[in-house]
Amino acid sequence: MRLLVLSDIHSNADALEAAFKTADGRWDRAVCLGDVVGYGPDPNEVTDRVRALGMLTIRGNHDKAVAGLVSTEDFNPVARAAAEWTLAQLSPENLEFLKTLPQGPLQTEGVMLVHGAFHDEDEYVFAPAQALDGLLESPVPVTFFGHTHYQGGFAYQNDQLELVQVRPKPGHGLAAVQLAPVKRYLLNPGSIGQPRDGDARAAFAIADLDHQVVEFWRVPYDIAPVQKRMKEAGLPESLVQRLALGR
Ligand code: ZN
Repeated sequence: MRLLVLSDIHSNADALEAAFKTADGRWDRAVCLGDVVGYGPDPNEVTDRVRALGMLTIRGNHDKAVAGLVSTEDFNPVARAAAEWTLAQLSPENLEFLKTLPQGPLQTEGVMLVHGAFHDEDEYVFAPAQALDGLLESPVPVTFFGHTHYQGGFAYQNDQLELVQVRPKPGHGLAAVQLAPVKRYLLNPGSIGQPRDGDARAAFAIADLDHQVVEFWRVPYDIAPVQKRMKEAGLPESLVQRLALGR
């Protein structure tokens, strides 16, 4: 079983298509760790694609906000403006889909899926101390998380917590990690639609569960047309600019 793990697609249809094109033939089932929408210009295209594939998807904070399940009060003005714009675009069917997305943690194929932290879907897990709860309390050895838009993660064994730094270098499409049976892992596939780890390429992961190998992928795509659609939609300029920076 090869699991295609996507997260933080953020209404970026071009990045999503580039990822699917590269991953074609390399996976058996796809899952999404949330934030299907928000920030980007293509909320319906991306939600249609996720629905058509029937991929197991848990909700992210942007999905929740756009669906009206939480207020956008905690959002910064830029994220709030994008959420309001997204809500105005969404078809009734796609809005209903986002409203009914399940909350993580959710277990499938022997791995756990969460959007943010294990106990709090809205918490950002950047530091080892924040990762420890999830590493220790997840009922399975491998948990995938999103939300930070940083590819990589954490591993734990015998009171030792280490960073999993496996981002593909520029010009390289993937970097693979062989999972050790004695370790526990908290792994982030990175963000499809708005990477923030300094690499503007779309990020995703493929987990070969039979061989216990996780591949971290980066795929270049033409960012300018996405930025053009964002400008035409009147989405905030800072969101337009950060796509090219990967920050
Ligand atoms: Zn996100």
